[in-house]
Amino acid sequence: MRRILRNRIIFIAYFIVSTGSIIWLVSTCGPGCTTEHVGGDSMADYYKHELERTRANVRQTEKKIRTITQTLNKQYAKAADAVNEILGIESPQIPTIYAITPTYTRPVQKAELVRLTQTFLHVSNFHWIVVEDSERKTQLVSRFLTNSGLPYTHLNVKTTDEYKLKENEASWRKPRGVDQRNIGVDWILENVPQAEEGVVYFADDDNTYSLQIFDEMRTTQKVSVWPVGLVGGLRFERPLLNDAGKVSSWYTVWEPNRPFAMDMAGFAVSLKLFRQQPHARFDITSRRGYVESSLLVQLGIRKEDLEPLAEKCSKVLVWHTRTEKPKWKQEDKLITLGKPSDPRIEV
Ligand code: UDP
Ligand code: MN
Repeated sequence: MRRILRNRIIFIAYFIVSTGSIIWLVSTCGPGCTTEHVGGDSMADYYKHELERTRANVRQTEKKIRTITQTLNKQYAKAADAVNEILGIESPQIPTIYAITPTYTRPVQKAELVRLTQTFLHVSNFHWIVVEDSERKTQLVSRFLTNSGLPYTHLNVKTTDEYKLKENEASWRKPRGVDQRNIGVDWILENVPQAEEGVVYFADDDNTYSLQIFDEMRTTQKVSVWPVGLVGGLRFERPLLNDAGKVSSWYTVWEPNRPFAMDMAGFAVSLKLFRQQPHARFDITSRRGYVESSLLVQLGIRKEDLEPLAEKCSKVLVWHTRTEKPKWKQEDKLITLGKPSDPRIEV
């Protein structure tokens, strides 16, 4: 066994030395080592020509690298960052993703925000707009965002009583998070400089987001769309494409004739389109299930203009997960006994 190994090492060493020598000979052997007499002038010409050729090669290779990184940037921003870092190239401008998240005080709120943060921290050029459904910004969310490590904007607006979901009222009866998303859009239009490109995404606090969906949505020109898992009483809902690869209808059982029969988590809008239709917002008075459509209709987009992502809408990269309300039976008992758990411990 050892002998075989030693022989192999000797062979490899021999191979390296001999190949290295050949390469050295070839590389040092310019026109001067040919038997033909070469005058000083033609020698200089030869090297000048060689230098030009090498320069052209380098330029071509640089161009190729630029094209690769630009393509990567559009599709896989995070990967492009890594490539740029390795190559020591400054990353070109990529559109910022503005994720608008409505949120409200409840036992699971902090856990939801932690889960979201730990996804969003992996997304480059990302700005989180967190909008509390409350009269005032809460301590919990303020502190949380300060320590999140994310670029963020903290806003708040309380849903008017007429539209506020009552405790124990079925969640589908009223649209949720509408005013919050709308003031998020207001903020973006008022604060992001005109020259900057962006993509707006409505990211509810209880959903589950793969990193890939952010890479994909960064390419949005007007409105991009993709499937959403665990929604509409189905395993998934998704846009259906025609032979030309354009959206023709939606795979959904509930109200399939809605203008845009998709969930909030299933589309992103370019900042450019919002700037072109600066008054387009979600309509809180719209019929049940029509909130998404209310915005998209105002944005003046046609079904054929939608940009299908996630491999022609065949992959689920976002899930409309919902968090179970925790059971606090024992906590309630302790409260009635006048011995609630330590309120200084934030959950
Ligand atoms: N939301 C809110 N105020 C409420 C209820 C919900 O701001 O009174 C937020 C919630 O945190 C989430 C979004 O609105 O980010 C959608 O609410 P939910 O997830 O309950 O809706 P569903 O998943 O049932 O569509
Ligand atoms: Mn939800």
